[in-house]
Amino acid sequence: MPQSRAGALGASSSLSAPRMTVRRLVRLLVVFYLLILGLALLLRPNEARAQDGASVTAQGFEAFLSQLWPDAKGRGVSRRTFEAAFAGVTPDAALLKQPKAQGEFTRTAGDYLTAALPAQRVAQARREAETWRDTLDAIERKTGVDRWVIVGVWGMESNFGRSMGGKNVVRSLATLAAARHRGDLFRDELLDALVIVEQGHVTPAGMIGSWAGAMGQTQFMPSSFLRDAVDFDGDGRKDIWTSIPDALASTAQFLKDHGWQAGIGWGAEVTLPQGFDLRAEDHAQFQPYARWSQRGVRRADGSALPARGEARLTLPMGLAGPAFLRTQNFEVIRDYNTSTSYALAVALLGDRAAGRAASPLPWPKEKALTAAQSLALQKALARQGYEVAKFDGKIGDKDRATIALWQARNGLVPDGHPSATLTARILAAR
Ligand code: CA
Repeated sequence: MPQSRAGALGASSSLSAPRMTVRRLVRLLVVFYLLILGLALLLRPNEARAQDGASVTAQGFEAFLSQLWPDAKGRGVSRRTFEAAFAGVTPDAALLKQPKAQGEFTRTAGDYLTAALPAQRVAQARREAETWRDTLDAIERKTGVDRWVIVGVWGMESNFGRSMGGKNVVRSLATLAAARHRGDLFRDELLDALVIVEQGHVTPAGMIGSWAGAMGQTQFMPSSFLRDAVDFDGDGRKDIWTSIPDALASTAQFLKDHGWQAGIGWGAEVTLPQGFDLRAEDHAQFQPYARWSQRGVRRADGSALPARGEARLTLPMGLAGPAFLRTQNFEVIRDYNTSTSYALAVALLGDRAAGRAASPLPWPKEKALTAAQSLALQKALARQGYEVAKFDGKIGDKDRATIALWQARNGLVPDGHPSATLTARILAAR
């Protein structure tokens, strides 16, 4: 960059004397600017700086570690483990710039799911389920969690162990904790990470994960690891990084501990009968599958719905797009990641790998609302006397129920989907 700028300045040769002076002056200023910049960089070694101004200096990092030690010791971490974990660890500057919009909240459900479920990933899920058939049999017997959901989580979280994120988890968590990113959350997770190392499940160098500390093939935060990680291959270590049986069983244990009910499944991709009347009742309520069957709802492949269990209807992009019935187990998947699109991707990756047919309806082609548009929509609803739980620019299930209510009161089909047309109409209403 500096070289090309100097080159551009020296390129034109037939300038008059006064302009030559100006050119020299400009060149001098550029050199001066670069010197100051270099000096500033030299004077601030090892400083991690965020866009919002949060930063961690080398001294600040040292001070943070000294304050951390008594608490680590209190958790049973030895000085030896502590020193091994932080040997040569400096704050990670790139990290503090990281928090950015997540795809599952900024794309339409259709765009997100289309990207999440390429044929190659479905085929891979099928192959992995076959390779690990005996392990999955045993895990299903032990936990009651559906193997296809376990495989779906594995595929979505780490692409079947192929993308765990290349970050040193101790370094990431220490950087975020020292910068007090999200209060004490990352400090607590860091202490948990040190306990995991102390217990001998993994070395500090082997503890790799994504930028915010989600670790290994299951992408567990350290606190989830301490609660749910399982040594399924019986070698004495809970190893979610290199042992696939441990990773799969740990995912199943997480889902079980969060309330997974055996034998119910996550739900089903469905077709609605012609003339299905969304106004007939509150479709967002859980109802027995038998009741949905009576109303003519079928699985997308035409087969009957499960005999047991309760589910509620979800229309991620309105009545014009694919429809789903989801059970309480679907909410358990959302404990991994609250996004409905994410949970659907997990569920559908498993379903497709198991050979279940997709909905005959294509996803509508629409642009997702921006966060600002979503916030404007939430404010417009509140202004018109509707209850809005959180002005966060994310249209969640509660907002969808509110939008459905708005639609019903305004003589529209209450599918709860904020299309661009509907959003414009709500914004314009008084
Ligand atoms: Ca193990």
